[in-house]
Amino acid sequence: MAKAKPNPGHKAIAELDSIGKLDCVITQNIDGLHQRSGVPEEKVIELHGTARWVNCLECGQRYPREQIEERIKGGTKVPRYDSCGGIMKPATISFGQAMPEQETRQAEDRASACDLFLVAGSSLVVYPAAQMPIIAKESGAGLIIINLTPTPHDPYADIAIHDKTGPALSQIINRVKASLS
Ligand SMILES: [Zn+2]
Repeated sequence: MAKAKPNPGHKAIAELDSIGKLDCVITQNIDGLHQRSGVPEEKVIELHGTARWVNCLECGQRYPREQIEERIKGGTKVPRYDSCGGIMKPATISFGQAMPEQETRQAEDRASACDLFLVAGSSLVVYPAAQMPIIAKESGAGLIIINLTPTPHDPYADIAIHDKTGPALSQIINRVKASLS
C-alpha cells in the first residue's frame, strides 16, 4: 500500500480542487491516495477509515502507521500506546464493525448541500456510501455516475457514463477547464 500511486482518476479529482470546483471527496478507500494526489486532508471524508493511521483502542490516540510498523520491525509483538497501555489497531473499519458516525453524518450533510454529485468508480452497492448520491439527488443536486459497469442508481442519474474513471474524468475536467479560460 505504501507503494500505491495515485491514478489518473485521483489526479483528475485533485485537479477539480485546484480549479475551485471540489467541495469534498467521500471515499470508501483506506489508501489515502486522494490526499497524496493533492486533495487537502480536510476535504476527504473516509467512510471506511484509513490505513495511514493507527488508533489506540483505549483512548483513541492516533499515530502514523509507519511509526508503529517500525516498532513491530524492532520486535514489538502487540504495539501498545505508551501513555495508557492500550492496544494500537489500524484506523480502518473491519468487516462487521459499525461505520464511523461522524464521517457518515458529515458525508450526509455535504451530499444534501451540494449542487452536483459526481460518482467516480463505484458500483454503488456498499452502504452507507451508496446512499450519498440518493441523498444528493433528493436534495436537488445534479447526479453524474461514472463507472465501468451499470449501477443500481443509474436510473436516478442525470448522466451515467460506463467507462474507466480516469480517462472519462480527465476528459470532463479538460472541458471544464477550457470553459473557464
Ligand atoms: Zn490509549
